[in-house]
Amino acid sequence: MKHYYLGLAAGYSAKQILKHTFAIGCERDRGALQRYLTQRYKGETILAKNGRSALTLALKAYFEPGDGVILNGFTCYAVYEAVKEAQLVPIWADINKDSLNFDKDTLEQAISAATSVAGSTTNIKGIVVQNSLGNPVDIAKIEKIAKKHNLMIVEDMAHCVGAKYPDGREVGTVGVAAALSFGKDKAIDAISGGAVVLRDPLKSPIKAPNKLPKISDTLRARFYPIFGAVARGLSYIHLGGIWMRALVKIHWVEKSADNKLDITRKIAKFEAKMALGQLKNISDIKSPLRKYYLVRDRGKVLGELRKNGYYFDGLWYEKPVSPIRYYKKVHFPEDRCPVATKVAQEIVNLPTYYAEQSLAEAKKIIGKNKEEQ
Ligand SMILES: *Cc1c(COP(=O)(O)O)cnc(C)c1O
Repeated sequence: MKHYYLGLAAGYSAKQILKHTFAIGCERDRGALQRYLTQRYKGETILAKNGRSALTLALKAYFEPGDGVILNGFTCYAVYEAVKEAQLVPIWADINKDSLNFDKDTLEQAISAATSVAGSTTNIKGIVVQNSLGNPVDIAKIEKIAKKHNLMIVEDMAHCVGAKYPDGREVGTVGVAAALSFGKDKAIDAISGGAVVLRDPLKSPIKAPNKLPKISDTLRARFYPIFGAVARGLSYIHLGGIWMRALVKIHWVEKSADNKLDITRKIAKFEAKMALGQLKNISDIKSPLRKYYLVRDRGKVLGELRKNGYYFDGLWYEKPVSPIRYYKKVHFPEDRCPVATKVAQEIVNLPTYYAEQSLAEAKKIIGKNKEEQ
């Protein structure tokens, strides 16, 4: 009987779990990761606690409080958190369902909607490009719009490392800054960590994180792959969920969305080591991150998938800004982003770290229920 848990460090092989759990990092590893990123993406690199802290540093370096930045209307709460932390105004652009990214039309619509409101004082200054689930945007077109409206591009590389844009440039080499996440299930997955590469001269100075990581955070990141593997094992006898919920309750596991934003803390040394290992090894990079499908009745499809041994630990994404428990805080303009709102109800996606044949049955089930495109 098939049994796949699509989440909970499922992308980690037994070998990787051992490597991660017993990795000994040293200060040199932070330096090596920093130098590697600087060389690869041609900018000043600052390592951070996680992706949202890295993105916050990028935003603080190039924007002033009160500036507006355009965000992809299909993303995770971490992005919104970073924008708020930098005291910027989020402007949501609707997506194109063929890429899950905004395109030139939805960008223009978002810009005119934000500036045409009577008495609007929103000063739009930037665009965060996300390359959702590893699908690159048509960057040349985005750049044209950025130029026209005098906007700076920041690349959020959480989903997309190593991929090329349609014009051949590598993701992370275009914007004024690029933020990376090394969080759970991201393109580079060291359970947590992040980095920002600042490619243009800064508008405002920022302080590199100088506090050590919290021991509790480091321990959680260290043991998560083991806890995840146990959960996946226990899920055969339907106890995986209980095990995970218990670990969350006693704070030995933290849900990704709850990972704290903190621009003062450094990345853990062993995480720097694990992230660098993956960056250097192209086959470790998950690209695209997930393959997605739009289905007519998602509840039914998920039920059928579960019956056939596929278990999901969260959907990317169940709301235009996920997870659902934080969605209300965002005040997302559903009326202006109808595609994102609909896609969030219909999307199912599968990680790319399993072999084709492992997901064959899942693809068949999804295929039967696929929306006409
Ligand atoms: C997860 C994620 C982040 C933030 O990463 P963390 O390391 O979890 O803080 C940023 N952007 C996108 C698109 C993400 O999915």
